[in-house]
Amino acid sequence: MSPLDVYKKLPRKNCGKCPSGTCMPFAAQFLRRLVSSTDCPELDEQGRQELDAMLSGSSDWKERRLQELFQEIFSVGFSEIAERIGATVKDGELKIRYMGKDIIVTRSGFSPELNIWDKLLVLMYIKTAGSRPLTGKWVPFRQLKDGLIRSESFHEACEQSLARMFGKNPDGFLQKLYGSGAQEAEGFSARHSLIVYPLPKIPFLILLWPADEEFGPDCKVLFDSTVTDYIDVEALLYLGIALVRELGT
Ligand code: SF4
Repeated sequence: MSPLDVYKKLPRKNCGKCPSGTCMPFAAQFLRRLVSSTDCPELDEQGRQELDAMLSGSSDWKERRLQELFQEIFSVGFSEIAERIGATVKDGELKIRYMGKDIIVTRSGFSPELNIWDKLLVLMYIKTAGSRPLTGKWVPFRQLKDGLIRSESFHEACEQSLARMFGKNPDGFLQKLYGSGAQEAEGFSARHSLIVYPLPKIPFLILLWPADEEFGPDCKVLFDSTVTDYIDVEALLYLGIALVRELGT
């Protein structure tokens, strides 16, 4: 079960009545048990029960997948892959930047501790170990390999969520982005064009337009054309959701 599965069960009003502020961060935090179904006043009793039922017995496959990934990456060895994924290795420990923070990965786990979705994303990135240099050619999610089938989910879960957060508090949202290491990009027609790296070889180019008399705030996210060498589109969708959660907390 993923944050997207929870999100689909929510009223999706983005009303700001819960501690998470909007629905996608709520979905991610619900899976981490940081909020409960009663924190969303827009859910009716049946919705609450359905949401609570999703939590029971949901973590087994993730733990299994985590162990598999650990075995797979440690059977290859970090020294062979560190440089090409933008990480460093010392004394058997891999240091990698995730969501603007340094993370250490060792045989015994992560430091600092991450939630299981973040661990899975970092390990999938390490395991994929892409090697093609970034091209600087930006493409939308739907144009990526296998991207079309997930593009609507990406738009709803990521681009619309980012647009709403920007619309609600433009300065605060931009500060959050800069605080996570975002840098300005030039040559785009958006009001704000910022590049942020949730993982070292996976830049997100975030284009933002403020609301006007006719339209609400808007957001488009573009990727380097090499991105699926580093992570598949399914994981990229969840990386986008993790970025939304990071910027929303
Ligand atoms: S999850 Fe939060 S933002 Fe979404 S409908 Fe419920 S209270 Fe509103």
